Amino acid sequence: MSKGKINVAVENIFPLIKKFLYSDHEIFLRELISNATDATNKLKHLSSLGEVKGDLGDLTLEVKIDAKGKKLHIIDKGVGMTADEVNKYINEVAFSGAEEFLEQYKESAKDSGIIGHFGLGFYSAFMVAKEVEIITKSFKDEPAAHWTCDGSPEYELKESDKKERGTEIILHIDADSKEFLEESRIGALLSKYNKFMPVPIKFGTREENLPLPEDAADDAKAETVTVDNIINNPNPAWTKAPSDLKEEDYKGFYRELYPTQFEEPLFNIHLNVDYPFNLTGILYFPKLNNDLNIQKDRIQLYQNQVFVTDNVEGIVPEFLTLLRGVIDSPDIPLNVSRSYLQADGAVKKISNYITRKVADKLSSLFKKDRKGFEEKWNDIKVVIEYGMLSEDKFFEKAEKFALFPTTDGDYFTFEELQEKVKDNQTDKDGKLILLYASQVEEQHSYIQAAKDKGYTVLLLDSPIISHLIQKLETSKENLSFARVDGDAIENLIKKDEATVSKLSEEEIEKLKPIIEEVVTDEKYSVQLEAMDSQGLPFVLTQPEFMRRMKEMQQTGGGMMGSFPEMYTLLVNTNHSLVGQILNTKTAKKRERLIKQGLDLARLSQNLLKGEELTAFIQRSLDLIK
Ligand code: ADP
Ligand code: MG
Repeated sequence: MSKGKINVAVENIFPLIKKFLYSDHEIFLRELISNATDATNKLKHLSSLGEVKGDLGDLTLEVKIDAKGKKLHIIDKGVGMTADEVNKYINEVAFSGAEEFLEQYKESAKDSGIIGHFGLGFYSAFMVAKEVEIITKSFKDEPAAHWTCDGSPEYELKESDKKERGTEIILHIDADSKEFLEESRIGALLSKYNKFMPVPIKFGTREENLPLPEDAADDAKAETVTVDNIINNPNPAWTKAPSDLKEEDYKGFYRELYPTQFEEPLFNIHLNVDYPFNLTGILYFPKLNNDLNIQKDRIQLYQNQVFVTDNVEGIVPEFLTLLRGVIDSPDIPLNVSRSYLQADGAVKKISNYITRKVADKLSSLFKKDRKGFEEKWNDIKVVIEYGMLSEDKFFEKAEKFALFPTTDGDYFTFEELQEKVKDNQTDKDGKLILLYASQVEEQHSYIQAAKDKGYTVLLLDSPIISHLIQKLETSKENLSFARVDGDAIENLIKKDEATVSKLSEEEIEKLKPIIEEVVTDEKYSVQLEAMDSQGLPFVLTQPEFMRRMKEMQQTGGGMMGSFPEMYTLLVNTNHSLVGQILNTKTAKKRERLIKQGLDLARLSQNLLKGEELTAFIQRSLDLIK
């Protein structure tokens, strides 16, 4: 037997690191600015411990483009490095000074916001640079060091005459990466990744108007001065305590996050935990209405104020990806694949926490200001209904504040609704029948008919409502939903027994085949019913079950296979037109009446289109001629 150590040749590994460390070359800037920020935060921390004496001075970082020299500079006034430290932290790939610092200052440094982790970030510079220089002067009383490396494993380290504390990284940008010498490109990167980093970052200068003196003439022009262009807000709202923020601050931060978004958010949820995991953030409920196809990548994920991604899939439950805002957590492992994330215990806890906070916020809004909650309902219902469908924990909480609006603009919770209809909306077995419409205009005549009978008609119009209805029916006993134009409404016990049949039994027996002879299409099944004589002669209803399955299919899920179109053609035997059909002797005239009646029923369901509609209009004209 033999044991040994695998010998990794640096010459072979180095090009790999350069090329494949990150798929996205642009992140080199994020890494270098993170290091500069770490160096600055370490200095502040050491100063707070008294290990660094005196005033720290201005700590602003700077990013500078030297287009002529084809160089990019990243300059900080942080702790710096001695030559020994350069050897240790830079020349030893994958040795993280950040980790070591956290280890050394364990307790006190826990909240110092150190970003570095794997000791690889620095080398991402070689993805865009053919040569990299580090000129660095430690806060310790030692000479400055100058390190140069051309991307081969060989480097040069010599003394430098740099006097002021801090580090300057100089990238000699590669010919195939010259985009990173463009001001617009770097500006865009800074605003994407570094907009909320905790140390001010200067990038160029800008002109600013001086305030006019009070006695200035009306046409006086403001004097301009050149000031440093600071690209970031080092103290974004989510890092502050909720008690220090007003409504206006939250709205202001929303505008900062989404400068092109004109609509204000409805409300926000401030996330803030430090045990058993660290997480801060602010989520906003935008006005959603019924639109499920809105952009989902609006929540931004940060780690210690460094932007990481706007794809929070796997971290935030699916239904909350409809929200906007920021989540900041150093505890989300991003070096694993997304599918793996969902199985990660810590991530599961984070996701549960967020769900709970959202539910609690909604619940308190509902309790504190029911009216306001009702007004917002239309814009937030999609998220809530989606959440109720997909997360059982959320369902339990949301049941108490999810609202069921009626076509008259009243709002009931599910419990209130059951209480309201329990006396007059039951079937013969005592099962509750909850009536609903999905469209006020198209189902107008059905809604009216149901309301005339004293029934409560809900207006449930979100795209996923059929799924939720299905879920409510299976999780609650003894109730079912019925759409006003569906067949299930027939199960309601008829209270108004004024609808006694006007036709005799023989007449009714005669009528059915007469109608079936004309209505031959198999999708209609004819049913005779003694209904209100003032109502329609023919009414089309669709089996509740069929229609719902179809809808569920359209919005995903539900059963597989396609459902045929099926309708019940209710013939109102009390209507005078139906009496007329029965008494008409000529077959041709009878056929015309039946076809006309059927088309009217289809018209009221918006089912008459194209050629059939043209034929209907022609027939109507013939009739009145
Ligand atoms: P990490 O940040 O994960 O520790 P990096 O490869 O990004 O790894 O950096 C390696 C180490 O080099 C850092 O931990 C730090 O000790 C040192 N370093 C890098 N950049 C700077 C800087 N601007 N100022 C001081 N030290 C730095
Ligand atoms: Mg780093």
